[in-house]
Amino acid sequence: MIKITLPDGSIREYAEGTTPLEVAKSISEGLARNIISAKFNGVTVETVTPLKEDGSLILYSWNNKEGKTAFWHSTSHVVAQALEELYPGVKLTIGPAIDNGFYYDVDLPEGSISEKDFPEIEKNALEIARGKHDFKMRSATKAEALELYKSQDNQYKVELIENLEDGTITFCDHDTFTDLCRGGHIPNTGIIKAIKILSVAGAYWRGNEKNNQLTRVYGISFPKQKELTEYLELLEEAKKRDHRKLGKELELFTFSQKVGQGLPLWLPKGAALRERLENFLKKAQKKAGYEMVITPHIGQKELYVTSGHYEKYGADSFQPIKTPKEDEEFLLKPMNCPHHCEIYNTKPFSYRELPKRYAEFGTVYRYEQSGELHGLTRVRGFTQDDAHIFCTPDQLADEFKNVIDLTLYVLGSLGFGNFTAQVSVRDLEKPEKYIGSVENWEKAENAIINAAKEKGLDFVIESGEAAFYGPKLDFMVKDALGRNWQLGTIQVDYNLPERFDLTYKGSDNELHRPVMIHRAPFGSMERFIALLLEHTGGNFPLWLMPEQAIILPVSEKHEIYAQKVLNSLENNDIRALIDNRNETVGKKIREAEMNKIPFMLIVGENEEKEETISIRRHGGEDLGAISVKAFSDLVLNEINSTLKSF
Ligand SMILES: [Zn+2]
Ligand SMILES: [Zn+2]
Repeated sequence: MIKITLPDGSIREYAEGTTPLEVAKSISEGLARNIISAKFNGVTVETVTPLKEDGSLILYSWNNKEGKTAFWHSTSHVVAQALEELYPGVKLTIGPAIDNGFYYDVDLPEGSISEKDFPEIEKNALEIARGKHDFKMRSATKAEALELYKSQDNQYKVELIENLEDGTITFCDHDTFTDLCRGGHIPNTGIIKAIKILSVAGAYWRGNEKNNQLTRVYGISFPKQKELTEYLELLEEAKKRDHRKLGKELELFTFSQKVGQGLPLWLPKGAALRERLENFLKKAQKKAGYEMVITPHIGQKELYVTSGHYEKYGADSFQPIKTPKEDEEFLLKPMNCPHHCEIYNTKPFSYRELPKRYAEFGTVYRYEQSGELHGLTRVRGFTQDDAHIFCTPDQLADEFKNVIDLTLYVLGSLGFGNFTAQVSVRDLEKPEKYIGSVENWEKAENAIINAAKEKGLDFVIESGEAAFYGPKLDFMVKDALGRNWQLGTIQVDYNLPERFDLTYKGSDNELHRPVMIHRAPFGSMERFIALLLEHTGGNFPLWLMPEQAIILPVSEKHEIYAQKVLNSLENNDIRALIDNRNETVGKKIREAEMNKIPFMLIVGENEEKEETISIRRHGGEDLGAISVKAFSDLVLNEINSTLKSF
């Protein structure tokens, strides 16, 4: 008999050789029907792998990330089989699951695959899936494996096998298809009910441009047709909301090849938007006891040698800047923390003067390969809404709660209501991985977990996910399209205070090390605005909109009245403008809709006579004719309902 420990901590006994699927069946038939993947003692196994020793077993369904990975990877086998049938002589390479779906890299003997070929591949793959073929793993010797692929003239698989150790090589068979594979499959192909080929792209073998270029076929699959339909609708919506497209349409930012890739240029409307976001956070930070600091964009190389950043990132980042003086080198600032440590170091502090909270909208530069750059989400220069808190270990719990409060305030004011949190703690079995005393780690981890509980966060604890220098809490925000974004990390750090020899005088008159907290609710202004654009589709919360209202005079006769309306709106701090072009009101409305301006104020004969404005909301709702005062109240009420004071 073997002892199997389940995630709830219960231990059950089974005969040696029992499979994960049989374990599921012993718990309930319903569970067994949904199980598509499993992990045994931390290693992914098949649902039909015989378990031969005591250990911990986790069973996964489609609803788990691990289940989806097995599902999509298994589909890549089915699609590869379809490609072999449709493109005789095609050479298979690798076919992993990715975040959303899977890909398979193939070397086509001739021609290419294009969008018009997708339906045929899908049809073929789906037919194979319907055959309900079991995925069966089998071992092979290195010699057998090499022989198979040498006979197919497949140099890619041969290369893969040459790097494997004899005795570790496995194949996965289903139907008439066979593939070199480590494992991690669903029970059979019949579970796959919907397959969509999404795109093709060129990809170099092993990512090296000196190698052959292969065809990468991207796809996704689902256990229900309905789920595929929903996914495709989301993709359509995501395309419409792509921040690169919206940023251009709304004239927020641009890029210039001349300035350089990955270096965003903020246009006036985008700069105003950023400024509003910054002022919003500055105001809340001031109330929370932060002090603003400003530091330069470069620092001596030595600074980053001290901080450890040079050792870790130096080789893969922007290279040092030289000066006419020999041996003098500067680096573009990759992080603000070292500068803030030096600010802390300018004078001695007693425990009574802590915490010190230094905040800066600090621009940093990190080299990203050009292929990795993406709109505002992956750039080479960006501004963090950074702050570092230096406190005593006893103050950590309160500081953590304050940072959570601030982060929740920020997310709430920007319309993010759907989020979870993750607390990353040590791997207790590997104490050698972490710096700082065990006592301090325990204190910090408890402080974070208690703070998360006290604030009512929906959170999970991940052990082993902490950085070597301290535990942390991450917020995971779900956007309007159901995608997860990591935002607002709060990170404890025992490392930099050590490296920069930071101290404070304790009540015992001795010198002690402060604890450092890094935090940035937005993360970076660039990435946050990208996320906000995609979450809202450009319909930002009213308080943040570049223009809140546009006045549309019916004809030039009403321009003077329009100007009068504008003046009183401005007196009420409402951002508005007049569209007095010689165009029809219909055309002006259409353009204002395109520009996502929340309110269109139409002024004509009647309005002027009655001293009113006719209000149309973005999206078409007609609010009728009301006084300017009533409109101003409406706008202010709406702003106050989302933008609570901190
Ligand atoms: Zn496989
Ligand atoms: Zn930092």
